[in-house]
Amino acid sequence: SFGRKRVKMDIVESPYVPPISEFHTHALSYFIQIKLSVWCRQPTGQWDLGSINSTSGEEVSVSLSNGKCLLQVLNVPTSELVPANPNILDGVDNLIKLAYVNDPSVLHNLRFRYSQEMIYTKAGPILIALNPFKDLHIYGSDYLSNYRQQLVHSPHVYGMVDAAYNQMMRDEIDQSIIISGESGSGKTETAKIAIQYLASLGGGSSGTTNDVLQTNCILETFGNAKTSVNDNSTRFGKFMEIHFSATGKICGAKIQTYLLEKSRIVQVANGERSYHVLYQLCAGSSSSLKERLNLRAAHEYKYLNQSDCITIGGIDDAKNFHQLMEAFDAVRICKEDQELIFKVLAAILWLGNISFKVTDSENHIEVVGDEAVTSAALLMGCTSQDLMAALSTHKIQSDKDTVAKSLTLLQAIETRDAIAKFIYSSLFEWIVQQLNRSLEVNEKHTEKSISILDFYGFQSFQKNNFEQFCINYANERLQQHFNRHLFKLEQEDCESDGIDCTVLDFGDNQKCLDLFEKKPLSLLSLLDDESNFAEASDLTFVNRLKNLLEANNCFKGERGRAFSVRHYAGEVLYDTNGFLVKNRDSLSYNSIQLLSSCNCELLKLFSKGINQPEEHGNSTFHIGALYSQKRGVGTKFKDQLFKLMHQLESTTPHFIRCIKPNTNNLPGIYDKELVLQQLRCCRVLEAVKISKAGFPTRVNHQEFSRRYEFLLSETDIPRDPLSVSVAVLQKFNIPSEMYQVGYTKLYLRAGQIGALEDKRKQFL
Ligand code: ADP
Repeated sequence: SFGRKRVKMDIVESPYVPPISEFHTHALSYFIQIKLSVWCRQPTGQWDLGSINSTSGEEVSVSLSNGKCLLQVLNVPTSELVPANPNILDGVDNLIKLAYVNDPSVLHNLRFRYSQEMIYTKAGPILIALNPFKDLHIYGSDYLSNYRQQLVHSPHVYGMVDAAYNQMMRDEIDQSIIISGESGSGKTETAKIAIQYLASLGGGSSGTTNDVLQTNCILETFGNAKTSVNDNSTRFGKFMEIHFSATGKICGAKIQTYLLEKSRIVQVANGERSYHVLYQLCAGSSSSLKERLNLRAAHEYKYLNQSDCITIGGIDDAKNFHQLMEAFDAVRICKEDQELIFKVLAAILWLGNISFKVTDSENHIEVVGDEAVTSAALLMGCTSQDLMAALSTHKIQSDKDTVAKSLTLLQAIETRDAIAKFIYSSLFEWIVQQLNRSLEVNEKHTEKSISILDFYGFQSFQKNNFEQFCINYANERLQQHFNRHLFKLEQEDCESDGIDCTVLDFGDNQKCLDLFEKKPLSLLSLLDDESNFAEASDLTFVNRLKNLLEANNCFKGERGRAFSVRHYAGEVLYDTNGFLVKNRDSLSYNSIQLLSSCNCELLKLFSKGINQPEEHGNSTFHIGALYSQKRGVGTKFKDQLFKLMHQLESTTPHFIRCIKPNTNNLPGIYDKELVLQQLRCCRVLEAVKISKAGFPTRVNHQEFSRRYEFLLSETDIPRDPLSVSVAVLQKFNIPSEMYQVGYTKLYLRAGQIGALEDKRKQFL
């Protein structure tokens, strides 16, 4: 049995077996000889456990069993086999402890743990978190204090955050917790669990701690929505810096947000919802507020009823609205400002109900002057006439006069929706500003910080648009940060211990980053270039890409308006349809004029935030006008990202990868293919391999000498642990290329502990 190979040093090893790449040659005979298990890939792609009976040429006869009885004997080519780990390694809490790191072994280990409700597993320095889709009793005050006192060590968000906190207090270095994963995998919950832990450390009852929690609630109300995969999906990237005083208490916080999904305001897919706050306002406002806002039920608004989904099972929008108002009060957003916010939201809802009537054969329109127009105008603080003019005409500056041209139906709808999107995203930013003001860090008190980054994971759908383009670009940057950190960790460990080890640098993705951002010829710079041309279209844009970027082998031109990018996590096909419009993110000159003329203070303020129209009335990227060289959404996001990376670089990072075990959001179901796909996207296997490569077994001299000292004859025993280590290795003829002796630790190649354990067994 493999039981005897367990070493009481938190290290589990198995006998030396050549790496998997050599599995097909002499390792096979070794596996047959001692009847080791293998994973065998069935034609369906499924991996089953078995053992090898015999080999002939390229074919191997394998007996598949379910652990208890024989299921099947079959012949397969060696390419369909990989080594399995001995049972004793089932469910190890760190994948690094696996003797063999391959797809089926990692999947098996995670499933084994998941079935026992152990959702957290370490993969070297990474914490893997599998979404349980049910409430587990592994959170709350008892657990908080157990992790705080380090009474438990099983992998957990608490444990990781505690380590970050201790490191911050001890080394006085800022820390960051980087959470990634696809939608519905548990990022938002994980971030909350992390914040909960920090709140418990920083003196649970303090005002600032409560503010941080309330802030999170407000952000969720405005930036989360029900999607087809998650009832409370975060539709923006979030970076929250939590500051601590010298005594380790929370003393302030700062939030940055990225890429709010604006299109959701005007366009909601079937079964999904727009942002929670809009439904909450309709459901929960008092009758007097309703009257002041001329507010109706949610199903009467087109922006909300288009998706046939008004309520979410188990969610009480009215109750949540009251919580929102309490949260506003808690973070000292005054009643007047709250009223302004609600007014702006109601204006957006009424804007969406404004309709148009086609007046000629060329699809020109006029605005239907109904209650929607009067209500929207009233709430915005402008006249109905001005609002109707802005939505139906387009002013062109000729030599001396301004000529108003009628818009077509499509143009009018686009104009109306652009205003709604602009108002909502400006409101979101404004609220974040107010929250930051309220959480303001008193520079005198702040010492250090822990930041939590909760960002959209890598996305690859059948059809990928501008949003995926930006999100995947950001993930490419985060991946580089991760690679560098892991590489650095390994290097530092070896160097500080005075040993020479060549650390594998894995997956350099600089080339892909260059494709996005290296001037003058990059995806982002060409996108801005084209966005500045009045005559440009998505087609002219993609053709320029195809002409100019072919040299970078991360780029591939595809048919029609498509191109693909070879990302670190796989190739993604992008459809450039809508790229230019989204990158320009323009508001017409008329719309800007309208907003700046509004009586509503917030709208006036928002209109100042955008690129002001130039003298001749040509706003940035304004359709049909002259374009001046302006930076688009993509480039602005790049700048934000650079700032973020700069901030992250001055911190010690901790990585959490959230994984969704099934697409039905059900507990207990573990879809191997789905898990594998996500592990690949975040390169978990590579990270484990890197940590295991070279000298994966690291034991400090004290522990090592305590365990093996007795193998030496009494007279040979040196006094210090380091010399004992060396003496043991020499006595048993461990080849010198199999280990390195550091100041504090012994570095061993894979399998060496197993060999020593065999010797130890003989002596016992
Ligand atoms: P993401 O932010 O990655 O889109 P969420 O954090 O919103 O995903 O998680 C989606 C859902 O999964 C949550 O609403 C919750 O029901 C469930 N969930 C996630 N993490 C946990 C957890 N640790 N314990 C229990 N349920 C969880």
